[in-house]
Amino acid sequence: MEIFYILDASAFINGFQLDFGNNFTVPEITSEIKDFESRLKFDAALNENKLTILDVADEYIKSVEKIISKSGDVLRLSVPDKKLISLAYMMFDEGKNVKVISDDYTIQNTLKIIGIPYSGIITEGIKGVYNWKKVCEGCKKEYDEDYPFDDCEICGSKIFKKRIKVNK
Ligand SMILES: [Zn+2]
Repeated sequence: MEIFYILDASAFINGFQLDFGNNFTVPEITSEIKDFESRLKFDAALNENKLTILDVADEYIKSVEKIISKSGDVLRLSVPDKKLISLAYMMFDEGKNVKVISDDYTIQNTLKIIGIPYSGIITEGIKGVYNWKKVCEGCKKEYDEDYPFDDCEICGSKIFKKRIKVNK
């Protein structure tokens, strides 16, 4: 089954190879590709008909917002990010075999929640849904993300931030 690739700005910036004509993005991504080399690649892909810019119907954006409303990621997503995810959701809904190419952790995390396949170019793609925790270097006591101090209240050791996988 043919794979339809949905490309984030990072796909162009980090050098994703566009081989066939099955690559898609949203109009808003265009403004996020600013450096000269990525811009050339982007324009060439358009001229060679390897890339199609598609807009997304509002109903799909609303559906995505609804699905991710319980996740903190909804606040971190930019308008282009949200539209890109909605495009993937729309094509996925049409029964197409889609894969989003993005190195953005917030996008990847959101896709994970929705259940749409993705791949990073630089990052390998996170394998679970993650949250941050603060952990003491000394006694390993765990603190909530909003614990305001750099030192452990029990042993006085340094506290570091750690990504933890949560089961959903
Ligand atoms: Zn401690």
